[in-house]
Amino acid sequence: MNAKSRFRKVLLFSRIDSFVTCGPVRTVRDTDEPGIRQFRVEAIPCYNLVLNLIIIFESKNLADMEKFFVTGHRGLVGSAVVRRLAAEPVETLVATRDEVDLRDGMLVEKFFDDAHPDFVIHVAGTVGGIHANQSRPVDFLYDNSLLHLTVLRAAWLFETKKLLYLGSSCIYPRDCPQPIKEEYLMTGPLERTNDAYAIAKISGLMACQAYRRQYGCNFISGMPTNLYGPNDNFDLQTSHVLPALIRKFHEAKLNGDSSVTVWGTGQPRREFLHVDDLADACLFLLENYDESETINIGTGQDVQISELADIIRTVVYPEAKIKFDSSKPDGTPRKLLDVSKLHSLGWQHQIELHDGIARTYDWFLRSLEQQQVRLQAGVENRT
Ligand code: GDP
Repeated sequence: MNAKSRFRKVLLFSRIDSFVTCGPVRTVRDTDEPGIRQFRVEAIPCYNLVLNLIIIFESKNLADMEKFFVTGHRGLVGSAVVRRLAAEPVETLVATRDEVDLRDGMLVEKFFDDAHPDFVIHVAGTVGGIHANQSRPVDFLYDNSLLHLTVLRAAWLFETKKLLYLGSSCIYPRDCPQPIKEEYLMTGPLERTNDAYAIAKISGLMACQAYRRQYGCNFISGMPTNLYGPNDNFDLQTSHVLPALIRKFHEAKLNGDSSVTVWGTGQPRREFLHVDDLADACLFLLENYDESETINIGTGQDVQISELADIIRTVVYPEAKIKFDSSKPDGTPRKLLDVSKLHSLGWQHQIELHDGIARTYDWFLRSLEQQQVRLQAGVENRT
């Protein structure tokens, strides 16, 4: 059974009894009628606005209900997961940072107590590119450590059926053999430019395994490669290379500049996965993967930064020349994941790099018009 067919088990009907603005689930109670559960979502208590959502199951079996809590739903990854879940007849729960600051364990437990998600896709994180990691290591360490401590504990306490946590390919040892197999984790020194982030994320992966060992929780983890796509961070100081170069070439075209400056020597190699492919892989893993060892998620193909720059140049501004600024750091020389484990389970990426960049540039242009591009995002707080 694939992810789609499994998640198509329920039919949902909703009735809006009174006008409401969006707010977190406050109470959940069974009604007298078998198979019907009532959710009360209180928007702003002082206005006493209430939405009663009546959910009737095809099977009349409450146990069939599948609620997915996606953390970090405004970020690159979380928003893609929410888009992917919209194609499934499931209930997707999200919470903004103002509603539930995921670094606050009490708030997180309250949310789980109220909402009781069946599945958690835990992708919230404080993330950024090479410069942001170098200059703000404490933010990366503090936020990302708390984020898994709170959410995993609540998922255990409130008996979430399954949780998927995402690491990142940049937390493998700096000089490990290529392509990187899952078993290379913690076999050597980390890349200095992002070691604080890496330590926090490694502890998240370990936490999934510890909950599984001590309490039998079905917590799994995936290790995505470099990601890109809609809702990426395009702030030149804190972004990753792909969105940074899309913006640089775009602005060079607007200004009529003859060249674009690419950081470093252009020699390092990186693998890139479109975030819509990652979202699909997340659902695939929830359906098909139950092991404690983390699993790599990528394309299995990498390019030199100079090649990447050339593809972006072709898509955005073919007339531009490329200059390299070798005073900027290169970071890890190569980061290519071995994805044979994921391929052997039956999942492959669908979006090739050139096509993915063209789609992302289209999104960038459309979103610029609507002023929805993060051009001055700072460090991305997906909490
Ligand atoms: P990393 O994969 O963790 O090293 O993070 P980045 O995506 O920030 O950087 C990847 C590579 O792209 C590094 O070698 C950077 O020096 C290089 N690079 C080239 N131009 C840029 C740029 O404009 N912004 C960023 N962030 N990296 C760039």
